[in-house]
Amino acid sequence: MIVKKSEAMTSNRSYISKKFKPHVSILEWKSYEWQLKNSIRNIEDFESFMGIQFAPKERKALNKTIEKFPLSITPYYASLIDPENYDDDPIFKQAFPNPAELKVSNYDMRDPLHEDKDSPVKGITHRYPDRVLFLISNCCAMYCRHCTRKRKVGDPDHVPSREQIMTGLDYIRQHKEIRDVLLSGGDALMLPDNFLDWILTELNNIPHIEVIRIGTRTPVVLPYRITDELVEMLKRHHPLWLNTHFNHPRELSPSARAALRKLANAGIPLGNQSVLLSGVNDCPQIMKKLNQKLVQNRVRPYYLFQCDLSEGLNHFRTSIGKGIEIMESLIGHTSGFAVPTFVIDAPGGGGKIPIMPNYIISWSNNKTVLRNYEGVITTYQEPDDYKSVTCDRNCVKCKLQLNLKKDEKGSIGIEKLLADGDKTISLVPKGNARLDRRKGHNGKAS
Ligand SMILES: *Cc1c(COP(=O)(O)O)cnc(C)c1O
Repeated sequence: MIVKKSEAMTSNRSYISKKFKPHVSILEWKSYEWQLKNSIRNIEDFESFMGIQFAPKERKALNKTIEKFPLSITPYYASLIDPENYDDDPIFKQAFPNPAELKVSNYDMRDPLHEDKDSPVKGITHRYPDRVLFLISNCCAMYCRHCTRKRKVGDPDHVPSREQIMTGLDYIRQHKEIRDVLLSGGDALMLPDNFLDWILTELNNIPHIEVIRIGTRTPVVLPYRITDELVEMLKRHHPLWLNTHFNHPRELSPSARAALRKLANAGIPLGNQSVLLSGVNDCPQIMKKLNQKLVQNRVRPYYLFQCDLSEGLNHFRTSIGKGIEIMESLIGHTSGFAVPTFVIDAPGGGGKIPIMPNYIISWSNNKTVLRNYEGVITTYQEPDDYKSVTCDRNCVKCKLQLNLKKDEKGSIGIEKLLADGDKTISLVPKGNARLDRRKGHNGKAS
C-alpha cells in the first residue's frame, strides 16, 4: 500500500506543480536555489500550498510552536505529503510542527549527547579516539521536527565563520590520532560548492587524515542540491563517504533516487542513518521496505538510532523494545547488508551503544548454544586445542606479521579488561564509597 501511494504521489510531478504551484516551470522546480527561496516558513503558506485550513485554535498553537522551533520545508518535500490524509502522513510528521514539541519532560536535555561539552574547540566534537565530528554549517534545507540539534536550528550565534573552521582544521592538524573526519552541521551540503571544496582540500592535505565523511539530508529533502557540478567537485576528494538520512520508504522518490544515482556513480560509498520515530517508521514492515529500497539504490543502511532525549522530541520517542523488535524482523529475514546497526547514543556523551536481540542462549566449556532468526536452536562445538596468540601490543615478536609500530597508548575500556598482559581487573565508577573507605586508596581499582 505504502509503495503504491508513493509512486502515485511522486511520479507525476506536473500533477503536483499544477495542483500546488500553477506558475512553476519544471526547470525552476528542479533548481535547488528556487526550492530554498520558496521554502515554506509559516503556517499560512503551508495552508495555501496544501489547499488545507487549520482551525484558528490549531493555528495559534502551531504558531506558538514555531516561535520556539522554527518551520522550514522545501516545496519538494512538502509535495510528497498526501493532502488527502496529511495528519497521519510520515512526511508531514517529519516536516510540520506539532504543539507537543513544547511539552518538555523531566528527562529532556538541551544537549543530551554533550556534544558541546566534548568540544575542545568550537565546532569539533572529539569523542572517539581516532575520529571527530566537525560541524561546518548551521543551515539545513529543511528543519526536521525530530532534529537532535534542535537547540541550534536557525540560531545566528551558531553560524560557523571561516575563522572557526580554520580553528577546527588546526585542531585536526595538531592531533595525529585523528584519521577520520565527519563533516556535519546543520547540513554539510548547504555550504556553497567552493567553500566545501576548500574544506575538503585542507583536510585532504593533512597526512594523517585517511577518510572524510559527509553527513547530509539533502538527497531526502532537497535532492536537486546534488548537481553535476557538486558531484564533479566531490569526486576530486576521494576517499569520501557520504551518509544520508532516509526514514521512510516514501522518501525514495524518483528525484531522490536520481540524486543517489549521481553520488553512487561518482564512486562515493553511500550509507544511511535512520531515526526510529513514533508514528513515522516504528513498524518492522516499513523498516524492512525502507532498507530494501535503500540497497536497491546502492545505499548501505548504517545506523538505526533510538530517538535522543533532546527537548521537543518526546512525542517521537518509542520504547527501545520497538527497535529490538525491528532488528529481530530484519536479521536473517532480509539481506545482511540491508540491516543497519541499532544504536542508542548514550545521554551524557557516552557515544553510540549497539543494541541487538540475544542470539546466544547458553554455553559451557566448549559448546555454545545459539538460536537463529527462525527460532532454531543449535550448538557450536568449539575447538579443543585453540590457543590464541598472546598479545603484548608489540608486533616485533609476534608471528601474525602485522608489524605495527608499538602502540603506546594501549587499550581502553572493556577492551583493556580483555587485553593480555594488562593487569587491570575491574573498572570502578568514580566516587565508589566502598573503595573510598579503604584507607590510603589512591582512587584506582586494584
Ligand atoms: C557518531 C559519531 C561519530 C562517528 O561514529 P561512527 O560509529 O564511527 O560512525 C564520531 N563522533 C561523534 C561525536 C559522533 O556522534
